[in-house]
Amino acid sequence: MTENRAEKILQILRSTFTLPKWTTSNRNPFKTLITTIISQNTADRNTARAFENLSKRFEITPEALTNAETSKIEEGLKVAGLYRNKAKTIKQVSKIILEKFRGDLKSILSMPLEEARKTLLQLPGVGPKTADVVLLFCAEKPTIPVDTHVNRVSKRLALGPVNGDYEAVRESLQALYNPKDYLPLHVLLILLGRKYCKARNPLCKQCPLNTLCPSRHIRDKK
Ligand code: SF4
Repeated sequence: MTENRAEKILQILRSTFTLPKWTTSNRNPFKTLITTIISQNTADRNTARAFENLSKRFEITPEALTNAETSKIEEGLKVAGLYRNKAKTIKQVSKIILEKFRGDLKSILSMPLEEARKTLLQLPGVGPKTADVVLLFCAEKPTIPVDTHVNRVSKRLALGPVNGDYEAVRESLQALYNPKDYLPLHVLLILLGRKYCKARNPLCKQCPLNTLCPSRHIRDKK
């Protein structure tokens, strides 16, 4: 895998897709954290609906969610999967942020990347993807979140090791790209995964990357 090929892939992705508004960095860290917890094992549309339902019931702040009844949080999250667990986690994480970090994630986000990542990973419900989303989108830290689309697409495109775990794929992508491109790359791989490189039926014939992709015959082999 050469950097040239990796660059070409990024160029084609940039010319194929328009980056949506939600890709801007400087998002509200707490709301981003809550959205990412809701999104675990949940389709994007249901994540958005659950967040909206929750926002109608409560202000999305550590204080409001710490004081909220778990059953009321559950009501808001019903449309998302595993809503009971998520309601419990959201309440716990809100309480910790309120009590240990004075209700603000800024103190964590101002730490150096590895320290900030380690601190976020100690919070309930926060795994590597959630931590990396908050770090990249809310603090412009140089890390690439590897969600289900990024993982699948990177492996098919040979941008990441085919049997690699989360860290192996993240490190491989980060070694191939310039940190200033981490955020657009993350988003563009998701857009490719949603539109062409779908999990079950990838649309390789229409895919703008098919001349560069070693997996372009993936469907022929089924
Ligand atoms: S050619 Fe097929 S496998 Fe390769 S990135 Fe495109 S859709 Fe995915």
